[in-house]
Amino acid sequence: MSASIDYNKYEAVIGLEVHAQLLTESKLFSSDSAAFGGLPNTHISPVTLGHPGTLPFLNRKAVELAIRLGFACHCEIERENFFARKNYFYPDLPKGYQISQHTAPICIGGHVPVVTDAGARDVRLNRIHLEEDAGKSLHDQDPDNTMVDYNRAGVPLVEIVTEPDIHNAEEAYAYLTELRRLVRWLDVCDGNMEEGSMRCDANISIRLKGESRLGTKVEVKNMNSIRNVKRAIENEIRRQIELVESGERVVQETRSFDASNGSSFPLRSKEEANDYRYFPEPDLAPFRITTTFLEDIRASLPELPEEKTSRYIQQLGLPEYDARVICDDKATATYFEVLIAATPHHKAAANWILGPVKSWLNERNADIAAFPVPPATLADLIALIAEGKVNFSIASSRILPVMIEEPGETPLAIATALNLIQNTDAGSILPVIDEVLAKYPGKVAEFRAGKKGLIGLFVGEVMKLSGGKADPKLTNELLMKRLNS
Ligand code: ADP
Ligand code: MG
Repeated sequence: MSASIDYNKYEAVIGLEVHAQLLTESKLFSSDSAAFGGLPNTHISPVTLGHPGTLPFLNRKAVELAIRLGFACHCEIERENFFARKNYFYPDLPKGYQISQHTAPICIGGHVPVVTDAGARDVRLNRIHLEEDAGKSLHDQDPDNTMVDYNRAGVPLVEIVTEPDIHNAEEAYAYLTELRRLVRWLDVCDGNMEEGSMRCDANISIRLKGESRLGTKVEVKNMNSIRNVKRAIENEIRRQIELVESGERVVQETRSFDASNGSSFPLRSKEEANDYRYFPEPDLAPFRITTTFLEDIRASLPELPEEKTSRYIQQLGLPEYDARVICDDKATATYFEVLIAATPHHKAAANWILGPVKSWLNERNADIAAFPVPPATLADLIALIAEGKVNFSIASSRILPVMIEEPGETPLAIATALNLIQNTDAGSILPVIDEVLAKYPGKVAEFRAGKKGLIGLFVGEVMKLSGGKADPKLTNELLMKRLNS
């Protein structure tokens, strides 16, 4: 940053283009495997390679997944569809063209909710369209040659394009996080940016605040994590402001982000851009989406994360923070749903997920699928606390670890075996109370003279002497009775 520049004079305008690989078994136009990886050039057939005489045929599942995402993003669904050829030459493109819906998308408009420190808002979408992926050039396999792997060629993608509606890197970060949660939630894409199954290009321009015309945009590519998209955007906004402030102009170009130093370098300028000579794909008939197909997809949609979050807040009375964390991913939300079906203590259930369960998972960098305790058993533990048989601290520090080791054991059996059941019987707590009061005659006098805060000390001592097993509520009551008599 340069001290002499007022960066706040400018507003950034950002539009994101996200490519997401659809979770289909086969490719968009052939029965070749769409699985990630595999030995190079093993997921290919003459169709993928575009040999003369081969014909593409459309994968119905890919269309279904695109519509699923379109519904979740509140898009309008186009009923009459066709594909176009996007012609260009590149070694990883076996046919010499890509089949794409670039000219006529299946999902139009829509929006994705984002939450940042500035509050909640919707980022407007321009479209979601279907297209096939290209293969991969491998530059690191041979010292003298570039190799090509066509396994990825023809894998179905959706491209999700926003309006130029994002205004800073934090918003872009929140948008991508939400979009990734959505595609995973819907089983549309695995959302893995590191493996490239979700990829983001960022279009960035700047303008003076108050200006309504769009500035010249630069497209930045090759960010392999959401964090790197944020870094790339921050870097590009700064670069453009500094250019303009030094009297130069932003030129329309495509740049590549280098994560190792956080900067970017030019790939190609507008002049070098391809003329793709789009025309309707002659080998694929236009296709119509029927009402039944649409309604079946709509009926199969799960409750969306935002809907679930609001329901947890409104119906269960959970704090917004709790509801959001539980809905971070579908597996956690599903665990929680089963848990609250088994216990009436909904807030306690949320506390267990946000507290002990999350910290166990975080330590192992695992997700909830790895948590060995079934929700019904956790509900039993919550019940033990509610009945006053154990307190939360004993439950989380002593009982839960054993439950994790032996998920077949009931919490009650574990608590009993470890001799942790709280003493709720006045007859056995009273002698301990008397012992404590006898030990602190001075404090007892102070308490009786009005220093009521000392009750905490007495309760603590009773708990200590009883090995944490005295019921704190009952202890409190009995102590008050003794001290005030
Ligand atoms: P192209 O034809 O160059 O791909 P599009 O009109 O398809 O351009 O837009 C691509 C992306 O760039 C969209 O997300 C769009 O919102 C965004 N975009 C377009 N113009 C601008 C601009 N001036 N500044 C920032 N983003 C922009
Ligand atoms: Mg584009």
